[in-house]
Amino acid sequence: MSKYGKEILIGTIPVVLLFLLFIGVNIIPVIFMTVLLASLFYMTRMRGGNMGMGGERRGKVRTPAFLTFDEIGGQDRAKKELREALDFLIRYEEIQKLGIRPLKGILLTGPPGTGKTLMAKAAAHYTNSVFMAASGSEFVEMYVGVGASRIRDLFKEARNRASKENKDSAIVFIDEIDVIGGKRDGGQHREYDQTLNQLLTEMDGIHTAESPRILIMAATNRKEMLDSALLRPGRFDRHIEVDLPDKKGRLHILNIHAKNKPLAEGVSLETVAEETFGFSGAQLESVMNEAAIYAMRDDLESIEQRHLSLAVDKVMMGERTDRESTKEERDRVALHELGHAIVAEIVRPGSVSQVALSPRGKALGYVRHNPQQDQYLYTKEHLQQQIMIALGGAVAEEMFYGGRSTGSRNDFEQALNLVHTMMDCGLTNLGIIDRQMVTKEELMKENAAILEQLTEETRKVLEQHRSVFTQSLDILIHEEVLSGEQFRELLAGSELPQPA
Ligand code: ATP
Repeated sequence: MSKYGKEILIGTIPVVLLFLLFIGVNIIPVIFMTVLLASLFYMTRMRGGNMGMGGERRGKVRTPAFLTFDEIGGQDRAKKELREALDFLIRYEEIQKLGIRPLKGILLTGPPGTGKTLMAKAAAHYTNSVFMAASGSEFVEMYVGVGASRIRDLFKEARNRASKENKDSAIVFIDEIDVIGGKRDGGQHREYDQTLNQLLTEMDGIHTAESPRILIMAATNRKEMLDSALLRPGRFDRHIEVDLPDKKGRLHILNIHAKNKPLAEGVSLETVAEETFGFSGAQLESVMNEAAIYAMRDDLESIEQRHLSLAVDKVMMGERTDRESTKEERDRVALHELGHAIVAEIVRPGSVSQVALSPRGKALGYVRHNPQQDQYLYTKEHLQQQIMIALGGAVAEEMFYGGRSTGSRNDFEQALNLVHTMMDCGLTNLGIIDRQMVTKEELMKENAAILEQLTEETRKVLEQHRSVFTQSLDILIHEEVLSGEQFRELLAGSELPQPA
């Protein structure tokens, strides 16, 4: 159909209908049939039954932004590994002479928001390829066969676009591959199986298609869930881990996202990098963005350190809410937070940076800790101290109110996770175990013993500093925040030897 085909058709239909009406033909059945046929046609196209439409839709949405490896912060090792793998695609003729089989699939694994999609886009730029992207969940359909046909369309579209744009290669990126590539368990998910089979077939067909060369990149944060057929040599046989960034990586990412933002003099992104251990690239981008929003709220033209600090709190714990709480609730929350803070300061002197009584996200108060060095190995003592800090809130409530509240839910979750880590690492009285090999009763007994003993120790620490609670409570209730220094002074004043 010509460029204006659709317009001509839309114009002609009413003229024909008017003519039929004029000569006395009953046009109601004609209109009815036309509407029915049009809806059917539209629905099939939406379901992906029509290959052209499915491909077109995807192609339009996913035109990649221009992106190079330099715009990805940190991830030096992953970037290097990926570049090396991509060189296979670029130096195709050389590898062919040596009889090396072409690389078909690269699997990027790692936590969400660490830049896997960015890597795939940069890969397309590096190899001067067409970039097509889709997410595993887009292939999940109620109707058997539709997912498989979408896979076919995606590859077809990649080939078409590469020839249209005169490119030698195309990169097909599938995010959340675990949705369609999960282990096949025989019959239960027939639709997923067909989709996965189609993907495997497309991958197997790659070596025969000389040009354009297709490389599949996929991302997942659950590699262990993937079907072994996907991971065998000749399929996704390059696995690149894209981890959470270390301090140097975080600084790099912050600098990248600070490029288009005015920073006030003396702002140290290094401090922010120190404070954000465990943050992903996406969270760091959000920190820079939120800091800029705070600066705008203050009617300032540049971002100051305090804006960054507030933004870190927001990304970590959620926005400040103006939830109204009763006096009793506030007293309880204040004592709870002081409980955490006292234990933290005793087991790790100098670690508390702020105790706050302002509601944030779901929490009604929080203790902010001073940044520590990135740490990847923990001793038994460290984990025990961490559990004691988590239990401090509930123990403080017991001391002053004779019982706990629902406010300790997250603390307990954290404590239980730490106990699990201790068990899995052979740091408990159970010795080196596989949790499957031990009975539930044994696990529960050990879990209870650890938590009971640490609760007792926490209680001892807090009883020794009972006076700090009473001294700090008023200040915290009125000021809503207690700085680390203020808190340490109060704590030092109470450090008189107590009878055992
Ligand atoms: P998911 O697994 O949730 O799909 P992902 O690992 O694919 O996440 P991306 O979509 O690549 O994550 O990253 C999301 C956003 O986070 C990016 O658009 C970018 O702004 C920021 N980001 C993440 N990692 C980095 C990084 N290493 N350097 C710069 N920006 C990053």
